[in-house]
Amino acid sequence: MATTVTRRAFLRAGAAGAAATLFGFDLRPAQAQVRTLKIERTTETRSICPYCSVSCGVIIHTLGDRSRNVTGSTVVHVEGDPDSPINRGTLCPKGAALRHNINSEKRLTRVLYRAPGSDRWEEKSWEWALDTIARRLKDTRDRTLRLQDAQGNPCNCLTSVGVLGFSAHDNEAGWLANKVLRTAFGIIPFETQARI
Ligand code: SF4
Repeated sequence: MATTVTRRAFLRAGAAGAAATLFGFDLRPAQAQVRTLKIERTTETRSICPYCSVSCGVIIHTLGDRSRNVTGSTVVHVEGDPDSPINRGTLCPKGAALRHNINSEKRLTRVLYRAPGSDRWEEKSWEWALDTIARRLKDTRDRTLRLQDAQGNPCNCLTSVGVLGFSAHDNEAGWLANKVLRTAFGIIPFETQARI
């Protein structure tokens, strides 16, 4: 005997559920298989969304298995990390679109330097950038470090150099940055992107 199903009931049940009910087969295993296939051959890397101070945990799925003969990598999927106590697997629209940012041709992956007074950017190596930063930090500190404040108290203050941290700093990175920048170099202006 034919089963009578109203149009309203059919729509409410949803296409997959209704099909299973009406025609006697279950689409759920096939749907689960489709979801599995997308990340079947990927390597999972846990990271932190870089956009804001919430610092949600993400899992980045990359094609390949990190073998030595695999060159390059393609990020095929980014999802919220269910083990992160911060977001428990959820992401806002910006974080959910992270894959497009990672794969974007406009993403900056090399050092660009604009000399003082110049109107153009020059491409430089990472070695050049690190050496130049270290040289300028040392020279500036040697030239401008204040050993005493106005009352003659020792202060070892360096206010001519500023540092901007990023919102994904965890406690350990923040502690290390303070030790190196404040204690070792004496740098006072130290701000984080999370407060901007
Ligand atoms: S997913 Fe959204 S809320 Fe979470 S860190 Fe990224 S931008 Fe912030």
